[in-house]
Amino acid sequence: MFLARPCLCLLFAFAAPLAAFGQAGNFEMVKLAEGVYVARRTEPPGLTVNANSVFIVNDNDVVVVDTTLTPGTAKEELAALRKLTDKPVRYVINTHWHDDHIMGNVVYRDAFPGADFIAHENTREYLPTTGLKNRQMAMSPGGYPGFIGALKQRLEKNESVFGGPLDEEERAVLASDIKIAERYMAENPSAAVVLPTVTLRDRLTLYRGSRRIDILYLGRGHTSGDIVVHLPDEGIVIAGDLVIHPVPYVGNPQSHPGDWGETLEKLLALKHTMIVPGHGPVLRDDSYVQLMSRLFGSMKQQVAAAAARGETLEQVRKSVNLDELRKLFVGDSRVRRDIFDSYVLGAGLAAAYADATAKQ
Ligand SMILES: [Zn+2]
Repeated sequence: MFLARPCLCLLFAFAAPLAAFGQAGNFEMVKLAEGVYVARRTEPPGLTVNANSVFIVNDNDVVVVDTTLTPGTAKEELAALRKLTDKPVRYVINTHWHDDHIMGNVVYRDAFPGADFIAHENTREYLPTTGLKNRQMAMSPGGYPGFIGALKQRLEKNESVFGGPLDEEERAVLASDIKIAERYMAENPSAAVVLPTVTLRDRLTLYRGSRRIDILYLGRGHTSGDIVVHLPDEGIVIAGDLVIHPVPYVGNPQSHPGDWGETLEKLLALKHTMIVPGHGPVLRDDSYVQLMSRLFGSMKQQVAAAAARGETLEQVRKSVNLDELRKLFVGDSRVRRDIFDSYVLGAGLAAAYADATAKQ
């Protein structure tokens, strides 16, 4: 059931979703509670994407969660924040180290020199090491430039990865992915990476006037440094890429599918009425996160059993069966199928196998 074709997902290599584009900006500001807004990206889900940001406006200041893929997109969102409040940004929280969540940090550092940047201690470690390597890979000819070329060629030839002509959704997503990648290449080679100034291991609570903001590490999943921002009084969970809709992006080796399901169960145990994913619309019920948890549970169990039988990764790719779950994630969409095949069956199974065999 594994894809035989070469994977075009750039993030495959560095495992995570990226960025955006837009004239006024491809996002909409959605109010979630008094003073709490999500800048919800409106690019369609593709092989590369930009990430949601959240703005928490407190009595005297603002806390920002995640800063998008490029300084330009962060500037667009900051301009939108400025229409809501003139209070200064005091803290920026990065849910993890992937470029689509941190490359706008520099905009906030320059606009608010007193701001602190909060992340997990592993994020602080990875950003200048693995993160730097990933960024260099993205900017190399085989990274985004090659990705852009391949997608343009597919558009020109009107050729679906599944054979035959492109459908309407594929065409729109290719165009969007190209814009995102081009913007990355235009802005990021000269952009400064701002490291966390405050780190946490398990939890940290900010009290900003009457607002309580819990920052929690619940376990490994999308990376080994994912943090969740919980507003207990408002019942809001900001999940970063522990939750990605409509298909999770799994990276190899940075994701840990074997732990991800349990981490999501802990996330669901937090008091909440809504969940803000790293990518996708705000979720008002738990069904999608439960589906993700089921997927990772099934991967963990099947891969562990295969590893115990002594199977190689290539054998695992044939013996693991996620067909039923895949149908629930992708429906009739070829684009979603492509994402699922690349990230879940491709990188995801490799990461799950690496973890399963490392534990033996
Ligand atoms: Zn990510």
